[in-house]
Amino acid sequence: MSRQDSGEQPEPAELRPSADELIEHNRQAADTVKTPGMDAAPRRHVAVVACMDARIEPLAELGLDIGEAHVIRNAGGVVTDDVIRSLSISQQKMGTREIVVVHHTSCGMCGLDEAALRDQLENRFGERPEWPIGAFADDRTGLRDAIAALEASSFIERDTIIFGFLYDIDTGLLTDVAQGETVSAATSADASALT
Ligand SMILES: [Zn+2]
Repeated sequence: MSRQDSGEQPEPAELRPSADELIEHNRQAADTVKTPGMDAAPRRHVAVVACMDARIEPLAELGLDIGEAHVIRNAGGVVTDDVIRSLSISQQKMGTREIVVVHHTSCGMCGLDEAALRDQLENRFGERPEWPIGAFADDRTGLRDAIAALEASSFIERDTIIFGFLYDIDTGLLTDVAQGETVSAATSADASALT
């Protein structure tokens, strides 16, 4: 089956970065590398769970710098077993105690037809995926579900401060804040100030 049969048209080949282009960009970027001698443990003790969407850059949007936070990304910023795996390492080996979930407006996982995607994968590869796809009905439901999943996990430290933001793709602003049960009053005030 050719790629065109899937109904998803790939980007024109000329838009894709070549390995040579990426290596050249890396050489330029290496001139400003900030990490020699930097501790691997995030300085702000925070882990960010965010969508992989190409339009968002979680550290920049939260005003965090390299070295200050772990960033764990996937389609939708969904709290999967693998996100819990990474957060467990982040908390147990790197000392993070705050989790910030960043979802966003116009997310591709919002309203995604899971059955259609399973059909597409089965038609294309001859195998139906067993793994959960993680679509959600609306932006706020997705954010609330992510926080609830963190709170329900047996592997997240009980004193973890958990809160979530909905990032507006059009304005660049954080338009909604969802808070976990363990958020202290002081942190709630700080979070409200960010809206
Ligand atoms: Zn998204």
